[in-house]
Amino acid sequence: MWFNDYHTHTNFSADSESSMEDQCRAAIAAGIKQIAFTEHEDYNPGDFTSFFFRHEDYLRKIEVCRKQFGRQLIIRSGIEVSEPHFFSERAGYVLNKFDWDFVLGSLHWVDGKHNCYIADWVDAFGGWHAAYRAYFLELQTLAAEGDFDVLAHIDYQSRYAPPDVYAQYHVEDFEDVVRPVLAHVIARGKGIEINTSALRRGLANPNPPAIVVKWFHEMGGTILTLGSDSHNPKHTGAGISAALDMARAAGFLKLATFEHRQVTLVDID
Ligand SMILES: [Zn+2]
Ligand SMILES: [Zn+2]
Repeated sequence: MWFNDYHTHTNFSADSESSMEDQCRAAIAAGIKQIAFTEHEDYNPGDFTSFFFRHEDYLRKIEVCRKQFGRQLIIRSGIEVSEPHFFSERAGYVLNKFDWDFVLGSLHWVDGKHNCYIADWVDAFGGWHAAYRAYFLELQTLAAEGDFDVLAHIDYQSRYAPPDVYAQYHVEDFEDVVRPVLAHVIARGKGIEINTSALRRGLANPNPPAIVVKWFHEMGGTILTLGSDSHNPKHTGAGISAALDMARAAGFLKLATFEHRQVTLVDID
């Protein structure tokens, strides 16, 4: 059985201290066949990760690691662009300038002002329910207009929810705003991921929960990747086998791989 991790970070992201070599060793030890290093590409002036990513140094390091580990591991160059709809000009420049294998599109900041990891971000919307709706509405715009290959962690905002909110949150209550996100993704020939980071934080569901993966499949979605969102070698590949089970249960027989931003679907088994 093959096993890929299509959402990982190294010290080319401001919030990771891990070398790419250590991440490659961890991936090989975890039995991963393909890894994509999807470093943060952020522009929001409020984010400490903004303008940190040194693209040319990164692409050189990718080549070094391909030489060193290429017999055991397929290494894809990647980038996780925050709000590609909001910063389309800057993102477009970077996406066109370099030969990326894989592009994640992420919504971390709502309205360009509220990052979901800031504890009281929902107050600006008068409560968590309205804030979550605002999140999904903006995700519709990202899905419709942003340049990306796979939409990252669809309900990212729930990852940092206080426990009482998380207990009340059911993605089914937001089906009317989530399905249009999926519809845009499918219409544009793009994909979604199952992001397992929340599982190792002790939360019940990955982002998005299994039901959303099911909706995506029912609606005709075919492009699905799995990612740990590892920022540290000890998390590389974590939760991917659970995500694989979830993909199968949703009806997926194949997962997506990317090279030069071209998708290839590969049988799960
Ligand atoms: Zn992210
Ligand atoms: Zn990430």
